[in-house]
Amino acid sequence: MRDVVIVGAGHNALVAACYLARAGLDVEVVERRDVVGGAVSTVERFPGYRMDVGSSAHIMVRHTGIVEDLDLAAVGLEYQDLDPWGFAPFGDEAIAFHVDLDDACQSIAAVCGDRDATAYHAFVTDWSARNMKVFDAFQDPPTGRNLGRHLWNVGRGAGLDGMELSRQFLTSGDALLDEHFDDERLKTALAWMGAQSGPPTHEVATADLVGWNTVMHRLPPGHPVGGSGMLSVALARRFEALGGTLRLADGAARIHARDGRASGVETTSGERIAARAVLAGCHVLTTFELLGWEQLPAAFAEHARRSIRVGNGIGMVVRLATSDLPHYPGAIGGDEWRAIQLIAPDRTALRRAHGDLMAGVPPREPAVLAMTFSAFDDTIAPPGKHNVTVWGQWHAYELANGEDWDAIAEREGQKLVDAVDRAAPGFAASVERMHVQTPLDLERELGLRRGNVMHVEMALDQMFSYRPMPELAGYRTPLDGLYLTGASTHPGGGVFGASGRSAAGVLLADRARSGGRGRSSRRRRR
Ligand SMILES: Cc1cc2nc3c(=O)[nH]c(=O)nc-3n(C[C@H](O)[C@H](O)[C@H](O)COP(=O)(O)OP(=O)(O)OC[C@H]3O[C@@H](n4cnc5c(N)ncnc54)[C@H](O)[C@@H]3O)c2cc1C
Repeated sequence: MRDVVIVGAGHNALVAACYLARAGLDVEVVERRDVVGGAVSTVERFPGYRMDVGSSAHIMVRHTGIVEDLDLAAVGLEYQDLDPWGFAPFGDEAIAFHVDLDDACQSIAAVCGDRDATAYHAFVTDWSARNMKVFDAFQDPPTGRNLGRHLWNVGRGAGLDGMELSRQFLTSGDALLDEHFDDERLKTALAWMGAQSGPPTHEVATADLVGWNTVMHRLPPGHPVGGSGMLSVALARRFEALGGTLRLADGAARIHARDGRASGVETTSGERIAARAVLAGCHVLTTFELLGWEQLPAAFAEHARRSIRVGNGIGMVVRLATSDLPHYPGAIGGDEWRAIQLIAPDRTALRRAHGDLMAGVPPREPAVLAMTFSAFDDTIAPPGKHNVTVWGQWHAYELANGEDWDAIAEREGQKLVDAVDRAAPGFAASVERMHVQTPLDLERELGLRRGNVMHVEMALDQMFSYRPMPELAGYRTPLDGLYLTGASTHPGGGVFGASGRSAAGVLLADRARSGGRGRSSRRRRR
């Protein structure tokens, strides 16, 4: 019998697997795909092109210390910094968000004037300090004690009282930007980056989605040499080096329970793996389907099914094999190709695209974000060619206009290319091949239900102790021995790993309390 069997080899599950194996447990991971990493994986889509399947830019995980703690460099992970982290083209001009704050302010001053540059300096100083504390809260289980410990003095550096501070966190990202800046271009670039978690920045309580951007002036996002999936490959190597067992292309068909506790999984090939505990790194609703809702207390099951909000998709993406990189009129000597290229004309365009999602139709003019890592990583495209990712928002998974995603995939993919072409004329002509991933494709390939790349909506009422619902926020479930990790749990989606480390800690603490027999006796919620 294994100590733990883990469902899914997403990066959070792999992080958990490493920490559990490092603590001496006998752990097996079962994954339904034939590659590791889930939405942090890279595959060869076209000969010579190693293309990301999900994420591309790694922001949060670089702040966790997990990469260093597990010494992933020793097993092949090498990050290249994205500096500038953002490049926002507006006609002949562009704002470059250099990691060095003074350099970024110089770029802002040249486009938006001195007042906004000075305001940006103050904004970053204040909100990055606040977010280092928010980040500490992301790194631990979201218990009242942990949240209180980390968050009680957020904003103290800015001399704010609790009323003003809470108002600032509860306001919309757009309102926050209007409070600080004048130039619509600066506000647009920051709003568009802030909207990457899904919620649009005109919604209430999205201020910190914008404020959070500021931490990239402390530590830049990174691109793993070889593609995003190299993080997961390194985690898998570390896990196996620690004695763990990894099973690919044979996922869980069922999670078994006996005598009121999880007892193992049955894989799609029919093999039964008995275990003292099961840790699910797939979507929370998938977990309960694998278990069988009838195994859960009826009132809890009904509440979970009705209250966990997956939403209606966030966006879609095209992976392009090109003969050239995008040439923006406001280029900054090639440094723009290192950056996340934030292409949106103004916040009205963002609101219109989100309005189309609400109406259930594909966006007439999607906002896009282009990434061009083959400009400095020669392992992901053949010599002389380029590998370009274009992500667009917002795209409804469930369309209300009678259209079918498979039928409109190429048309909607081309809209993303055209959006880059409008900012960098001539780019569309350089596209030689295009791989389109619609919200439906993301669900089919990665198990991302309704195309939500964050598993469940990243709105404040589903974050921290509410993610994915209060009863599940501690990584435990009502079934003894069944634990959760992944984007469905605190601190949410994105390339992060903190959920995996925290879930492993909770499981290990329960084992220790039960004398290492793997029975969690009575669960402690908070
Ligand atoms: C197109 C796209 C672009 C993105 N861009 C970025 C970005 O640039 N930066 C960023 O920070 N984030 C980005 N994200 C979001 C981020 O990648 C995800 O939120 C994150 O990777 C989720 O990781 P996870 O470990 O929680 O779970 P997942 O990656 O969802 O992994 C779950 C795993 O469980 C497996 N599974 C499901 N069912 C079973 C089963 N029955 N048996 C066994 N295994 C099963 C799945 O195959 C998968 O491998 C992007 C996502 C997508 C899809």
